[in-house]
Amino acid sequence: MNVSDSEFFANILTTQYNCELTDDISNADIAIFNTCTVRQHAEDRALSIIGRLKRWKEESNGRLLVVCGCAVERLKDTLKTRFSFIDVLISSKDVLQFGEIIAKYLPIGQDRSKFIKNYPIIRNLGDKEKLQVTAFVPIMRGCNNFCSYCIVPYVRGEEYSIPPKEIFNEISYLVANGIREVTLIGQNVNSYRWKLENNTVHCCNNKEFVDFAGLLEEINKIDGLKRIRFLTNHPKDMNDRIISAVGNLEKVCKHIHLPLQSGSSRILQLMNRKYTKEEYLRLVDKIYSKIPNVSITTDIIVGFPTETEKDFKETLEVVSQVGFDNAFCFKYSVREMTAAAKNFVDDVPRKVKEERLAELLNLVNEIAYKKNKARIGKVEEILIEKISTTSNTTELIGRIDNNITTKVRVNENIYHLGDIVKVKIIDATTHTLFGKTVQ
Ligand code: SAH
Ligand code: SF4
Repeated sequence: MNVSDSEFFANILTTQYNCELTDDISNADIAIFNTCTVRQHAEDRALSIIGRLKRWKEESNGRLLVVCGCAVERLKDTLKTRFSFIDVLISSKDVLQFGEIIAKYLPIGQDRSKFIKNYPIIRNLGDKEKLQVTAFVPIMRGCNNFCSYCIVPYVRGEEYSIPPKEIFNEISYLVANGIREVTLIGQNVNSYRWKLENNTVHCCNNKEFVDFAGLLEEINKIDGLKRIRFLTNHPKDMNDRIISAVGNLEKVCKHIHLPLQSGSSRILQLMNRKYTKEEYLRLVDKIYSKIPNVSITTDIIVGFPTETEKDFKETLEVVSQVGFDNAFCFKYSVREMTAAAKNFVDDVPRKVKEERLAELLNLVNEIAYKKNKARIGKVEEILIEKISTTSNTTELIGRIDNNITTKVRVNENIYHLGDIVKVKIIDATTHTLFGKTVQ
């Protein structure tokens, strides 16, 4: 979501203010620093980088330093006093007001009449050489789930769905500009819901509501779009309609990111996740049986308050049983305001959290490696996202439908970004596949 918000800021500056992006901050007149506060570590890093930006800010007159995101929402006053050199603070709750806020700080004389007040459907897609073929498309903002460890509902605000019409317009625009794969994003896309008003009943078979499965069905019809991905799902809201949509719609990739968080029903209850270990496992069985060759990835937290060795072992068992293709694993981090911070002591020692994380990662990587090795010999399709050429080699880089990065050496560069190419997998590491082209 932060990557997508940053793109949104960049688009406003490049399309409304003739700004150019630069990789070198010493050339920049404006620096926009987007922050995350989901774990303390992310926040600490953000504050340390902001501290270092003081020098950049003071090196030249007229530079503008903008700090945005969740850390601003959480720490506005601290940031103001500790880093008085910041020019503009924009909270994660005001992302969509970025254009209006920034207008006050940019040189007078700019044409501000073209401001887009709502979600803009403009993206600066760069020149053809660097053609971007994949893009994030937010379909929801905020979150109402209040998992007890999580700060997101407090810093990003209430959940709401973006109207289907805006989503279709944005995707059509992106496709017209070379995008071939979209990743629909939201904190819990499974709870997408949009009530159709009379005057907008021109989509989704005139149904009264559009749910996430309905949205996938409609997006699947967009000409020129080759692939649809989505992030992230909540097991409590994953339903048969979504599973069938993923299984049956040809453009929807067979990959589901299904955050588990813990394999212990006791911990899941304390986390306010609203499902048990058994319900999660039944859901996974259903997904495997309805969608052949699907890949499932997950998020897991170790060291949640009161987590015992037995609870942790249950997490390891679920990981083995499901056979995740990959997992993002985190040490529990206390977040002020959350229910867990208020109600529990952070009682799992840091060392234990670290040991559990290491053990979990070993298992996750071992499974990912085995699953990737089992793909050797299979024929898959990759969407070319990058072509890397040296004087004597050309390498195509993309992902298979299951979302695993795949590299393919070719002799002749007859390929284009955005092409879908059939490849036979010839080798594998934990996170990468290697293939060769086949007819
Ligand atoms: N809405 C998404 C997740 C957003 S945060 C979802 O529900 O899947 C991404 C991940 O960060 C979460 O899935 C969780 O595993 C992790 N996370 C969130 N809060 C955390 C905390 N306080 N400590 C450690 N990990 C956390
Ligand atoms: Fe956080 Fe839970 Fe919402 Fe995900 S669903 S953002 S983990 S509160």
